Amino acid sequence: MNNYDIDLIKKYIEKSKQEEAIKKYKEGYPVQYLIGNVDFFGNKIIVNEKVLIPRFETEYLVDDTLKLLKKYNFINPKTLDIGTGSGCISIALKKNIKCEVTAVDISRDALEVAKKNAEINNVEINFVKQAIEDFSSFGNFDVIISNPPYISMKEKIDPKTKHEPHNALYSNEDGTYFYRVILEKAIDILAKKSIIAFEIGDKQGSKVIKMAKELFPKANIEIKKDLNDFERYIYIINK
Ligand code: GLN
Repeated sequence: MNNYDIDLIKKYIEKSKQEEAIKKYKEGYPVQYLIGNVDFFGNKIIVNEKVLIPRFETEYLVDDTLKLLKKYNFINPKTLDIGTGSGCISIALKKNIKCEVTAVDISRDALEVAKKNAEINNVEINFVKQAIEDFSSFGNFDVIISNPPYISMKEKIDPKTKHEPHNALYSNEDGTYFYRVILEKAIDILAKKSIIAFEIGDKQGSKVIKMAKELFPKANIEIKKDLNDFERYIYIINK
C-alpha cells in the first residue's frame, strides 16, 4: 500500500465512492483500474480489467523504436502492433511520427478499450481482431512492434497481476511462444527494410536472439536493458 495511491484515489474518485475504492485498493486491487486511466508516454489511456495496465518499461520500447525509425530514415512506416491491449503503444507512435498503424488483438473487449483510447487521443488506427497464429494475407509492413504475453505458464501467479487479463500476461514455451510465432510470420509480411521491436521477459534474451538470427540471418540485432538492468528489449533491424 502506498499513500500516494490513496491520495490519487481521493483526488480522482468521487467522494461517495472513495471509501469502497480504498477498501478494494487495500485488498490488492490495482489503483489504475480504480481510477480508470493511466498516463502512457504523455497520453491518457483508459484502462479496465479487460486490458493489461501499461507499464513504464514499455515507454522505453516506444522511445527506442521512434529513435530507430528516425535513425534509419523510415518515412510514414506501415506499422503492425501485435497484441495491442489498451492501444497504448500504437497511440504513442501515432502521436509522435507520421505512420500508418494496424493494431491487432485477440480480445474483442480489449479492442473496445483500445478504440476508445484512439478516439480520446484523436488518432486513427486500423484495429483488427485476430489471433497472431491466424495472420495471413496481412500485407506488407515496415515495422512490427509487440509487447506480447511473455510470462511463463510455469510461473506462479503474482498477486500484483491477478486482476489483469491472464491472456495478456502468460504464454507457452517458457513465455517465448509469441516471439517464435511472430518471427515466423514476420518473414512473409515484412518489407525488406524493416524493424521488429519486442519487449521481452528478463531471461528470454538469448532464446529470442537465437530465433531471430535463424530467421533473419542478415539483420542487425540489438538487445537493450531496462532501468533495473534487466534485458528487456530486442530490436531486429533489416537493412
Ligand atoms: N511486464 C509485465 C509484468 O511483469 C508483463 C507484460 C507482458 O507479459 N507482456 O507484469
